[in-house]
Order: sequence, then structure tokens, then C-alpha cells
Amino acid sequence: MPRPIQATIHTGALRHNLERLRQAAPGARLWAVVKANAYGHGIERVFEGLRGADGFALLDLAEAERVRALGWRGPILLLEGVFEPRDLELCSRLSLWHAVHDDAQIDWLAMHKTHQPHHVFLKLNSGMNRLGFAPERLRAAHARLSALPQVGEISLMTHFSDADGARGIAAQWAVFQRVTEGLPGERSVCNSAATLRHAQDAAVRADWVRPGIAAYGGSPDFPAHDAAHWGLQPAMTLRSRLIATGSLQAGDSIGYGSTFTAERPMRVGVVACGYADGYPRHAPTGTPVLVDGVRTRLLGRVSMDMLSVDLEPVPQAGPGSAVTLWGQGLPIDEVAHAAGTIGYELMCALAPRVPVQVD
Ligand SMILES: *Cc1c(COP(=O)(O)O)cnc(C)c1O
Repeated sequence: MPRPIQATIHTGALRHNLERLRQAAPGARLWAVVKANAYGHGIERVFEGLRGADGFALLDLAEAERVRALGWRGPILLLEGVFEPRDLELCSRLSLWHAVHDDAQIDWLAMHKTHQPHHVFLKLNSGMNRLGFAPERLRAAHARLSALPQVGEISLMTHFSDADGARGIAAQWAVFQRVTEGLPGERSVCNSAATLRHAQDAAVRADWVRPGIAAYGGSPDFPAHDAAHWGLQPAMTLRSRLIATGSLQAGDSIGYGSTFTAERPMRVGVVACGYADGYPRHAPTGTPVLVDGVRTRLLGRVSMDMLSVDLEPVPQAGPGSAVTLWGQGLPIDEVAHAAGTIGYELMCALAPRVPVQVD
């Protein structure tokens, strides 16, 4: 028998979340962001559920090739643009749209030989201070691109640093509007958080939204709002089973470092899931886990292949009992929050050794 751990990708949930995002941004076209191998879900595995999107946005040229290999003929956008001049050949060959965030990328375009003018997304740095042209340099970049025969359409994009939080998007949105005023071309500014929280404003939702995490059923602003609040369903469930049960006496510890010590006799279970499966090693005692559908808690340190759980709330549980680490019945955001991280990191880190099925 194979080790009992298994991840399931829920095609129906992906479709549902896409629909939900369309409701949040009526009239806008929608990039399904599938970077990082579709946030750990697997590009090939989410394709059926997300093919209702208007385009796929990603970073890696190899991932773009995989989307084309699935038969997708619609738009594909490279969110960070090309990394070296010869990447432009693949952009021409596969009709990839690409972000342009610095002058070197424009230099490379100017030297590129192509009969097919490229669709580029000119990126403004409106305050995130990661990628993009500074406000005072955007128009010069736009003028340079406009003059190139290698460039067809020029769209305009920026990325918000605080769409999920109290600071909000107002300052960055004002910069974007001021700097791009009067320039032709489509606009795209909203990630998941901006799509769900700010896209009631038709100007903000603009021509294209770019949700990632919400398509996979994660809340972009947990714990302020959970996935249920946003009407999202988990697209990944990580399940395993108990492979052993035991008991601790008062004073007994469990796991490496003896970080948890029982204060009274208690039953414990050992789950076939560890950090080599992508479960966060830094999840502390108390992190929620479901056993036979009942909510209980992690005990002690997570090890490479196993973790331990409290069986007090589930007295009937025994070896073989079903365990849910996250997904249906246990929001990934809650597990991530307990571990001091975000759902994004957990889903992206699902390890290659975990067998995945698609339902
Ligand atoms: C990753 C990414 C997104 C999607 O972000 P989410 O928070 O997952 O919705 C959107 N735009 C850009 C430029 C990105 O890099």
C-alpha cells in the first residue's frame, strides 16, 4: 500500500471561484494567475477548472510552453517579462504577451527580429518599489515602445502592495491615474485582494483583473476576512491517515525537542505527513487538524515524514482514521495563520512526493 498521504485538486471549486471573481469584477477580462505551477496545484491539473478565464498569467517561459501544450490559444502574459533577449524568440513563436518593466527589456525588443508585433504590458512602479518604471520615467518608456516596429499593442499595468490591508490602494491608484492619464491602451491593476475589495469601482477593475490566490480558494486578506466571507471554495485538500496511535502519561513529551509535554494522560495519533510533504515545520502545537472530520490540534514538532495530533476530541479514532491537513473542512488560511505564514506559501510548497488526484 502506498503511503496514505494525498492531495486532491477540486475542479469544481476552481470553476466556482472563477465565477465568483467574475461577479466581483463585472465586465473586466480575467487573467488566471498560474505562476509557481499554479500556486502548487499543477498547471495541467487546474487547466480544466480555469480554462474559462480570458488568459493565463505566469512568470516562467517553461510554464508558458506547458499552457500552450495544453492547447490554449488565448492570451498568455509573462508577468515579469523576459529575462534575456533570446526569450523574445519564444514570445514571438508562442504569441506570448509580456510585461516590460525596465529599459533593458526595451533595448532587447528593439534588437529583436520578428514579423509579429508583440503585445506588451508596460509596468509602472506606483509605490511597491519592486518592478516597474518610476512615475517620471513611464512616459518616456511608452514613447520608446510606441516607436518600435516590434511592438503592437501597449497595455498599462501596476501592482498594489496593500490591497489586502488598511493602507489600501488609494495612494498607488492616484499615482497610476496621474501618470497614465491620456495614454492609450488597456489597463490592469487588480490582484485578488483588489478584485474582491476594490473592484466595485469600474475604473479600478479596469480592463483586466489578475487574481491568483482567490482562484485557488484562499482568502487574500485573512484573518480580516476568510474564504467563506468571500464565497470562495478550497481548490486543494491535503489528506492523510493516522498510521499509529498511542498514549502519553502526565509528564511524557512527544516529538523532537520534547516541545510538548502532557499535563494529564492523553491519547495521541501519528499522521503520515511531515515537512517533506510541504507541511510547515514551524506549525506549533495547537495548529488545527481534522481527524475523522473532527477538529483537533497538532502536538509538538512536525518532523520530516510525520506529525502528531491530540486524539482527545476523537476517542473513536484509530490507525487508518482519515486526517485533513487543509482544504475541505479546514481552511488553509487557518493552518497558515497558526504557522505564522499565509495560505499562498503552504499551497506553493506542496512537495512533489505527494500524489495528487484531480476531482
Ligand atoms: C502574483 C501576482 C498576482 C496575483 O496575486 P494574488 O495576490 O495571488 O491575487 C497579480 N499580479 C502580479 C503582477 C503578480 O505577480
